[in-house]
Parts: sequence; structure tokens; C-alpha cells
Amino acid sequence: MRLDPDTLLIVNVANLLVLATTLPIIMGAQLSDSARDARRALMVQAVGWIALIVSGQMSGTWMDWALSTIAMMSISGANWLLYLAITGWLGPRPLRRLLAIAAIVMPLGYMLSFSSYPVRVGWANLWIALQLLIVAYSTLHPVSRLGGRWRWVILYCLFIMAVLTAARGVMGAWFTDLYPNFTAPHPVNLVALLLANITLVMVNVAVLVAWREEAEHQLRTLAITDQLTGVLNRHGWSGAASVLVAQAQRHQFPLALIALDLDYFKKINDTHGHDVGDRALQLFGHLLVEGERSGDVIARLGGEEFCILMPHADLAAGEGFDRRLRAALAAKAPHELGFPINFSSGLALLKPQDDSLRDLMARADAAVYRAKELGRGQLVLYGALETDDSHGV
Ligand code: GH3
Ligand code: MG
Ligand code: MG
Repeated sequence: MRLDPDTLLIVNVANLLVLATTLPIIMGAQLSDSARDARRALMVQAVGWIALIVSGQMSGTWMDWALSTIAMMSISGANWLLYLAITGWLGPRPLRRLLAIAAIVMPLGYMLSFSSYPVRVGWANLWIALQLLIVAYSTLHPVSRLGGRWRWVILYCLFIMAVLTAARGVMGAWFTDLYPNFTAPHPVNLVALLLANITLVMVNVAVLVAWREEAEHQLRTLAITDQLTGVLNRHGWSGAASVLVAQAQRHQFPLALIALDLDYFKKINDTHGHDVGDRALQLFGHLLVEGERSGDVIARLGGEEFCILMPHADLAAGEGFDRRLRAALAAKAPHELGFPINFSSGLALLKPQDDSLRDLMARADAAVYRAKELGRGQLVLYGALETDDSHGV
């Protein structure tokens, strides 16, 4: 069997076109920014390869110059878009500025040095190799959100293509006889074209898996998040809070729970309307989050009832949180809502004899109930209920 570069090139472009046209159909219109960037990368790459092939038929004309330059711009653009997609999936990536420079300098230098084959081929391929290395490296950096095995597929594929592209650049620049044009049947070129086909498919499979992982992550987040305030909902709360209680029991660190209930909330709805009530809930959720320490778990359990679970917090820390929250609410609510709002809260600490989260919550709820009885607008410690029934804190 003989492999010839022209056939490989055509298969490559056919592959690209099929992927570039079917992926949008498979993925549909409702795409995340990352998925859209990855899809655009594919399309831009397809444009580049077509321009390159057509340019090969017009050797020596100004159209060759123009189409080849467009091809180089497309390759830069595709690498940049793939980097953006990965950034969207994994969080900020390193070497962004260097990649931007490489993406601009490569086609620019290629365009200006077009009259010299060794210079332009060496220049373009070495800069493309650098771009590919940066995009490959971007899959490695500490991962913030998603981090499935699809990252390795992109890493290996782009690394292999970077090495082969660099080899093409070196051959074109310094061993021009071996590589007089991009369809030269040199083994390095044949391997590069063959692997370009394989890695194209592999990278796109990886992109689809990343996209699915992103969708799963979004669904999981949606399922445990309260849509109005953005804090955890009851479902998310039971998961996160139970884990924290189990950890506190095993490692014997203090754990404080504050249950909070807005006062006369029904009246706020009745007087100012449901939308204003919603805004009050949002403000309250926002202030809770603003006051939290890392590791705290905050949730809206329903209606106008919230709670916060604070690891490594004793009575004083719990009281401090409640005091700061009251001050923040007193300062912000009149300004943001047009009227003051207040809340009753109950603080309970995890005890060695507690069986579960439920025991702790029952005590915090009892303390809230007592705060309501005492006239609202205050914090009650569960301990105070046991020793002295007449006082809140
Ligand atoms: P208390 O001081 O005793 O806590 O009285 P309250 O009026 O705050 O408590 P109650 O439980 O009687 O009323 C809670 C109200 O919260 C009733 C319900 O209509 C309202 N509510 C529940 N969920 C939402 C919501 O998502 N948005 C708005 N705007 N109101 C809600
Ligand atoms: Mg209530
Ligand atoms: Mg209430």
C-alpha cells in the first residue's frame, strides 16, 4: 500500500468538513460559550485547509499569496478558539498573551516573507508548533471546574502535532530539498498528514466529551442550587451539611449552625408585592454569602428560611457572624429595598451525643422559634433555652 500526500490531504479536509457540518447539528443551538468556541475552531480550521489546498493550485499568483495567508490566519484562529474553549471549561489558563502574540505574528510574518519558501515555511510551522504546545499545555494547569480524561486526549494529540509541525518547519527552512512543498511525499510529511487525520477525530471526540461533562456539571449545580438566591437549596444542603457534620464528629472540631427566618415576610409580600419580596430574599442571600468564611455551607431551605453551617466556629464566632449580618442588613435593606427588614435566628452547636444533622437542626429551629416568641429581630442560643428560658442572647 502506498500513501500519497494528496489523498491524505483530501481525506483530511473531507473529515474536517463532515465534522464541521455534523457537529453543529448534533450539538444544537443551545450551546455554552466553550462549546461554541470549540465548534468555531473546527469551522475555521476547515476554512484554512480548503484555502491551503486551493492555493496549491494557483502557485506563483497573488491568489496563492492571499489564500495561503488566509489559511495561516485560520490555523492561528482555530488554535486560539480551542484555547478559549479549554479556558471556559477549566478556568483561566497560563500563557494566554504568548498564544495571542503567536497567533498574530505567525500569519503576519508568513505574509511578509511569502516570496521565500524556506523562510515562510520555517516561520509558519515553528510558530504553529508553539501555538499547539501552548494549547496542549493549557490542559495541564491545575483544574478548577471540570477535569475529565478528555484533557489527556487533547494534550497528547496536540503535542504529537506540535512535534511533527516543528519537524516540517525545520525541513522546510533548512532542508528544503526534502520538503519542497506541503504535499511532498517525505515520510515526516506523510506521518504528519496521517496523524493530522487521527488527531482531528480524537480532539473532536474529546471536545464532545468535555461538552457533555460541562452539561452534567451544570445540571448537577442546578439540582442543588436555589434559583432565586444562588445559595444551596434543601437538596444541596442535606448533602453538603451531612458531610460536614460527619467530618466534625470524626475529627472533633466545633460546628455551629445558625437557622435564620425573615420577620413578617408575608407582610412584606402583601405590602410591596411578591417581586419586592423576591428582591428581599436575594439581598438576604447575598449578604449571607458576603459574610461567610471559606468552608461555610449556606442554604435556603424554603420560603424565607435560611441556614448557615460554620465549621471550626464556637459560640462567639456564631454570634459574631449574626451581629455582622444584622449590621449589614440594617445598612443595605433601606437603601436597596426602600424599607428595613429584620430576621430571627437560632444558634446551636454540635454536641458529641448528636446522631446526625437532624438533631443539630432541631435545636437551631427551636431557638428560632424562641426568638420569634421573644419579639423577633434577635438571635437566641440554644444553650440559653436550656439554662435560662427567659432570655435570648
Ligand atoms: P414570621 O415573622 O413569624 O416569620 O412571619 P412571616 O410572615 O415571615 O412567616 P410566614 O411563614 O407566615 O410567611 C412566609 C411567607 O413567605 C409566605 C410566603 O408567601 C412567602 N414566600 C415563600 N417563598 C417565597 C418566595 O420565593 N418569594 C416571595 N416573595 N415570597 C415567598
Ligand atoms: Mg418562616
Ligand atoms: Mg418569617
